Amino acid sequence: MGRYIDSVCRLCRRERQKLFLKGTKCFTEKCPVERRAYPPGQHGQGRRQKVSEYGVQLREKQKIRRMYGLMEEQFRNYFEKALRQSGRTGETLVKMLERRLDNTVYRMGFAPSRAAGRQLITHGHLMVNSKVVNIPSFLLNAGDVIQIRDKSKKMEMIHSSMKRMKDSAMLPWLSLDKAAMTGTFLNIPERADIPLNANEQLVVELYSK
Ligand code: SF4
Repeated sequence: MGRYIDSVCRLCRRERQKLFLKGTKCFTEKCPVERRAYPPGQHGQGRRQKVSEYGVQLREKQKIRRMYGLMEEQFRNYFEKALRQSGRTGETLVKMLERRLDNTVYRMGFAPSRAAGRQLITHGHLMVNSKVVNIPSFLLNAGDVIQIRDKSKKMEMIHSSMKRMKDSAMLPWLSLDKAAMTGTFLNIPERADIPLNANEQLVVELYSK
């Protein structure tokens, strides 16, 4: 399956929930979920089908996968890795997704969306522990330090994104030095701390069929 190239706002409307894929627009009244809280398409408003158990599980999986901006195969690989680890598979899956560098760059406020974070990384604007890392899926470990490279510190996109980030909104497993444009991934987060409005157990049930 190829990469999704249609409007990402349609994905939010399909899930009837904000997935925060567009950056700044997601926090404004222009967000289509705010204005049209029904699925896209000709029959979006009229559709009242009874959703099967499989349908509910599928929607939940799609929601999480799309939120983190992953292709089906990548997402399935994370699930398989989570399955091989001890503990609750769904929680392990979500924690692993949170450790991704593109997600962390977004969470720290260096980028307005995960997609923008991915672009910053692939274009070589970031360092992890003083080394350039251009792999968005890079998994962070406790104590890893993420830094905007000196040559990239004037980028308008980074500044406007950081401006929106309130200090009080910083997540408990991250710390940020705004002046130095440096953040630390303090520890692997607890599921309860991750702001993800989804039921990952349904993903486990779906893939266990
Ligand atoms: Fe989703 Fe953001 Fe588009 Fe709203 S503006 S529909 S939250 S991507």
